[in-house]
Amino acid sequence: MVHAKAGKAAGKSFSDTIRERLGGHTITLCYQCGTCASSCPVAKRTPDFNPREVIKLSLLGEKDEILGGQSIWLCCSCYNCQERCPQKVEIADVIYAIRNIAIEKGHIPSIYIEFFNAISNDGRIVKVSQFAENKRPTLSLPPLQPTGVEAVRKILAATGFDKILPKKEESQ
Ligand code: SF4
Ligand code: SF4
Repeated sequence: MVHAKAGKAAGKSFSDTIRERLGGHTITLCYQCGTCASSCPVAKRTPDFNPREVIKLSLLGEKDEILGGQSIWLCCSCYNCQERCPQKVEIADVIYAIRNIAIEKGHIPSIYIEFFNAISNDGRIVKVSQFAENKRPTLSLPPLQPTGVEAVRKILAATGFDKILPKKEESQ
């Protein structure tokens, strides 16, 4: 059984903060059985990620370790764990909730900054090379359509996402 520790005396605990987020409300149902970890393809490949551990540390209030660490970014959102959790903890969604908190605090992996810049500049995460463009007709593929990057920028602005990068830069 896990007991929330840090943050309780000072007000809202870290798990309370997660519970209030979209997807985060089931975190406190976890009883640490480990089914998620044994179902997780990422945990099988690397000792740097264990969903049970992410849940445990979050319940313990270790928010600096969770928000500032790499592990929450290693989940590949396959939802294996979520289908198998006997407590119906929505683990992948909990991890999304934690990621959103981390992003708001300026903890954003560099790869996501690159994605943002690419989407903001070109409307695509991956820039299409001239080679690929030239190859398309030889494969009977039509030319690529413009991405509508202005519309993409409006979405980024409307969601407030364009405000996050300066926050990241300030935190560095
Ligand atoms: S499977 Fe569910 S209850 Fe078991 S450790 Fe993972 S999140 Fe907790
Ligand atoms: S959703 Fe994430 S934590 Fe769950 S099994 Fe897949 S990779 Fe592992």
